[in-house]
Amino acid sequence: MARLHSLFLAALTLGTSAQAYELKHDSGGHPVRWRETLVITVDEATLARLGPGATSALDAALAQLQTACTTVTLRRETGRHLRISHEVDDEHPRVNAVVGLDDWPYDPKALAVTVVASDPTTHELVDADVALNLQHFRFGVLPPSGPPADHSLDGLDDVQNTLTHELGHVLGLEHNPLDQASVMFPGTSTGEVHKRTLTADDRKALGLLYDWPFDQGWGPGGAGCSAGTGGPVGLLLAMLLWLARRPRVLAPWPSPPRSTTSR
Ligand SMILES: [Zn+2]
Repeated sequence: MARLHSLFLAALTLGTSAQAYELKHDSGGHPVRWRETLVITVDEATLARLGPGATSALDAALAQLQTACTTVTLRRETGRHLRISHEVDDEHPRVNAVVGLDDWPYDPKALAVTVVASDPTTHELVDADVALNLQHFRFGVLPPSGPPADHSLDGLDDVQNTLTHELGHVLGLEHNPLDQASVMFPGTSTGEVHKRTLTADDRKALGLLYDWPFDQGWGPGGAGCSAGTGGPVGLLLAMLLWLARRPRVLAPWPSPPRSTTSR
């Protein structure tokens, strides 16, 4: 059935338009998005590893994103033995998984990786998985104001902060390398919590994607987006890495792709 034909690091170009946000585009240049419903399934064992409050943190991330997405319903479920899909075909169930990995196969500096697949005919997102790097980072649920002064939670990366960013990728957003305040800025620091909250620019991007009815093609004027090619010809797989900044210095960007992330 449909085979993946393209794998790439998705945030290697800087935006040149007035707004800072970037939408994810497929190989035909069309933005990609979900239709109607997006169910996120989080791995039960991962939740246990992330610590008390992790389920609420995920729900809060989804609720925050839901406020900016009017035409798609976001839901959360739990599951077991979930995996990251690098192939999307009839033999692989399309579970949109959130999974923590102890044996991290990607760039070790990446706090998390999101892999998305879209149908090139409909430009619909059809599968997305979020991997959390449990091998090289420690996650936890921090107070809304960040790590407490008693240092009891030092060294933790906040679950909600991380998942709000990754789920932004799941919904079709690219990195926004021009605005460090935005949720979609491609860098983070240990203990950061400000990415729990969408900025106006993040909201603008999601509004652009999801305010437009799916059955009317893409954007004002349609932009030819609804033109089909006579059946599935392949799925676009994109991998987005979130490089952690540690200590708090700007990481070089764009980052060179690593061989371990391009397969
Ligand atoms: Zn990212």
